[in-house]
Amino acid sequence: MHYFGIIGYGGMASYHHLRIEKPEQIRFKAAFDIAPARLEKARKDGLIAYDNLDALLNDEQIDTILVATPNDSHKEYAIAAMEAGKNVICEKPVALNAQELAQMLKVAEKHGVVFTAHQNRRMDEDYRIIKKIYDENMLGDVFRIESRVQGSRGIADTWRRRKDKGGGMLYDWGVHLIDQILCLVDSPVVSVFAEFQQITQTEVDDNVRLTMTFQNGLSALVEIGLCNYIMLPLWYMAGKTGTAQIDYWDLSGKMHLLIDNDIKFEDEIPSTLVGPSITLAPRAEDTMAVAPLPKADVDKAFFYKNFLDVLDGNAELCIKPQEIMRCMQIMDLAFLSGKEKRVMNCKI
Ligand code: NAD
Repeated sequence: MHYFGIIGYGGMASYHHLRIEKPEQIRFKAAFDIAPARLEKARKDGLIAYDNLDALLNDEQIDTILVATPNDSHKEYAIAAMEAGKNVICEKPVALNAQELAQMLKVAEKHGVVFTAHQNRRMDEDYRIIKKIYDENMLGDVFRIESRVQGSRGIADTWRRRKDKGGGMLYDWGVHLIDQILCLVDSPVVSVFAEFQQITQTEVDDNVRLTMTFQNGLSALVEIGLCNYIMLPLWYMAGKTGTAQIDYWDLSGKMHLLIDNDIKFEDEIPSTLVGPSITLAPRAEDTMAVAPLPKADVDKAFFYKNFLDVLDGNAELCIKPQEIMRCMQIMDLAFLSGKEKRVMNCKI
């Protein structure tokens, strides 16, 4: 049996404790929080509630700590837990920059403990579908991927609105969307360009557009917007012989696949809905097929199953420190690009 403790028993930590599927050999035992109301909630949810960090870290039965506080305190708590000999699962983003993360990884190495990030959206069904289409080359050579999350309610009045707490949408959603793309495309990122806007916020970004160009030529756009009354598709992926789109979280969408590329251009400019145009004249209908999106395997228990296997020495981490670092380095460059308003060349 492995006993886990929690630092920061807020919304996400209670989700870990009560909702995320876990092997029965993992049991959350205790939590520490600075808010008395959250300690009370922890007690109600069957946990021992510690009102100080040392008490939690001195609990010898606990071998792993979940850090689920606001983003600015991840580094401090993860390091304290690892120095106490505990393994650490840190909520995303694990740190505010790559430098902080490097310090955390050094401590993990020094104390020989396991450290990973809960970058769980690698198992979201929309992403798994995109990954299946990409991996199985259903669209031919893919040259463009667009991944978006959009809403219209702005940011709730919590620490997520505060810069000093690591608020803002690149930290909040960007980290997931970047992680997904990096796990998809097997090629180094050679440039990053990002634009940040504050449409509903005064301190932090609530509208981000980030373009990553890969060495293999593929261009990926990640976009997060919180003032979008009409939402663009979650995913748009274009390959040489097909295009796929996932419209929304209900997984509606389709693929348009080329079945005949023998284009016969007209001798005379045709009159089309866009006016006279040979280039944009519609294709002959019988050269394309519309296909449904494929089904993808989703294992929502993957994270804790893998973590248990790692603790028992039977597997490697599925979310590896070098992957977490790569994602953080892209985020660092994105912030710099936004600040300096220029493309950042790199090899990450
Ligand atoms: P939250 O505000 O609901 O919870 C944060 C908790 O930390 C609160 O109970 C608060 O009292 C406590 N806290 C604040 N400062 C503290 C401190 N200095 N020491 C100890 N406790 C402190 O926030 P949340 O939505 O649960 O987010 C927590 C973390 O989880 C964030 O890093 C966030 O990015 C992450 N998160 C991840 C996912 C995911 O899908 N992986 C989803 C939501 C949130």
